[in-house]
Amino acid sequence: MDKTMEKATEHLGSLHRAVVFLGPPGAGKGTQAKELARMFGVPHLSTGDMLRECIAHGTPLGLQAKPIMERGELVPDSLVLKMVKQRIQNADCSAGFVFDGFPRTVAQAQYFGELLKRCGYEQPLVVHFAIDPALVLKRITGRRLCKIGGEIYNIFERPTKVPGRCDKDGGELEQRPDDREEIVKPRLEAYARQTAPLVAYYRRLGRLHDVDAAQSVEEVSRRVLEVVQGHDAQSGGS
Ligand code: AMP
Repeated sequence: MDKTMEKATEHLGSLHRAVVFLGPPGAGKGTQAKELARMFGVPHLSTGDMLRECIAHGTPLGLQAKPIMERGELVPDSLVLKMVKQRIQNADCSAGFVFDGFPRTVAQAQYFGELLKRCGYEQPLVVHFAIDPALVLKRITGRRLCKIGGEIYNIFERPTKVPGRCDKDGGELEQRPDDREEIVKPRLEAYARQTAPLVAYYRRLGRLHDVDAAQSVEEVSRRVLEVVQGHDAQSGGS
């Protein structure tokens, strides 16, 4: 680990910080959230992944969420909030965590703020992935995931060496059912209507940091790290 990473790890670990990645589907939040969480040794929490896991296991929550997700709509706040509350109380979240895809409505953000307060955390540090909606369609429809490790690729922007196989573990790649073009449209509409207002919400709270998500993965990673470290410096490490 280089010196910058050591410093970053020390900061996030000791600050007990909640980081939220906010942006439309296809903006690259998942890739960056996984990387940041790995670097800082904290959990990467994706409500989308949690819900897909519930569907895969056929739980009551999974059964309720499945048709809603297949239509590209948002799962009701009450179901998501119950799941999040349980998850962040796990011991592995005690040194901080990176959320990707949550909160997605103002009601979720308000509840999350209260929950964090009760757990002794300050309001989340929000990284906003700003991107032209026209660009995300190509990103989403080109996205492929490894069936084994969940590694994220893109047939246009990040192809694998062997088509259809993960570079890391050789696992078969698959497309998420809701990444098909006809489902992407309602997902983008849901973002514009229900999630985009969170940009103004967190900006008002002074918690929002913009990242130009149209840049390369490496450039966005560099900027995300700068935001996290810059924020630490601004708040004087408190
Ligand atoms: P994602 O993997 O974040 O793109 O989420 C996939 C789908 O899961 C979304 O289109 C929603 O149907 C559902 N979902 C994920 N996170 C949330 C959330 N915080 N609130 C409501 N629905 C969610």
